[in-house]
Amino acid sequence: AVAVVGSVNLDTTVRVPHIPTAGETILASDTASSPGGKGANQAAAAAAAGAAVRFIGAIGADAVGEAAVAGLRAFDVDLSELQTVAHAPSGAATVVVADDAENLIIVTSGANDHLDPDLVAAALDRRAGPVLLTQLETPLAVLAECGRARAFAWRILNPAPISADPGLRPLLAGFTLLVPNRTELAQLAGLPVPRTIAEVSACVAALGFDGDVVVTLGADGAALYPAGGGAAPEAPRTFAPPPVRAIDTTGAGDVFCGTLASGLAAHGDLERAVADAVEASARSTELPRAQLVPGDAAVAR
Ligand code: ADP
Repeated sequence: AVAVVGSVNLDTTVRVPHIPTAGETILASDTASSPGGKGANQAAAAAAAGAAVRFIGAIGADAVGEAAVAGLRAFDVDLSELQTVAHAPSGAATVVVADDAENLIIVTSGANDHLDPDLVAAALDRRAGPVLLTQLETPLAVLAECGRARAFAWRILNPAPISADPGLRPLLAGFTLLVPNRTELAQLAGLPVPRTIAEVSACVAALGFDGDVVVTLGADGAALYPAGGGAAPEAPRTFAPPPVRAIDTTGAGDVFCGTLASGLAAHGDLERAVADAVEASARSTELPRAQLVPGDAAVAR
């Protein structure tokens, strides 16, 4: 089984001719709501890849929260540890997409910022499984509890969205597997965004992280640095994606992380899980949505 600790949002996407400026009123050609949030997207992807998934997150006591978790219910994700907070609205994102594909995103973290670390710790203590997966859209105190949940053999951190909070760095040591993209890796390493594989390797070396590192490289796939490389990591094993016609790369990293977690829970073979994650995330770019739905399961398997 896979335990995902993370955010859940309701995304509202409005399509407009151009990004409006202050004081302007414009007409949208379309408005659509869809479930989102990195935690929920990754939980859906893990379920699509075949894992039994439990989701530990928080919503407000409102209809937005119910709509936001509907995608997880459709996958039969275990929501028994979902927290409902009384004093904050459910997480919501407004995504404004212009005809020229420019976008503007406004996020209300809401309940995600109030995920209770003690309740998360209690849930993780009560039931451990092989794989725990989390991100950075919930409080650092929750991240700390995830790093302490040693009964989970695989503790995976996708450090997204990356922050410059100095409290983050010391918490990395609690994890066994780090899955950053290029930008996140650069920020953690304190180096410029790497372009070549040699530069990626230099960033991984600068991290000084003890566990495994898998760097996602967009259209270039992913690179695996097994634990033990230390300050002189060997040339990574790289994985190229299949040819795809990418129309929407939003959420590709989430599909990657969810599929990776599912593979580790099923067979524990990291190379095989990375290969499957590259394949599924690449295929997901051909779909016009961030969060997979049950009909997309073929993408992830
Ligand atoms: P994020 O979405 O978090 O920024 P990446 O851009 O690295 O992360 O994408 C995550 C994964 O999605 C990649 O490892 C790759 O497998 C797949 N992917 C993303 N963009 C493309 C693309 N244009 N073509 C093929 N695969 C892609």
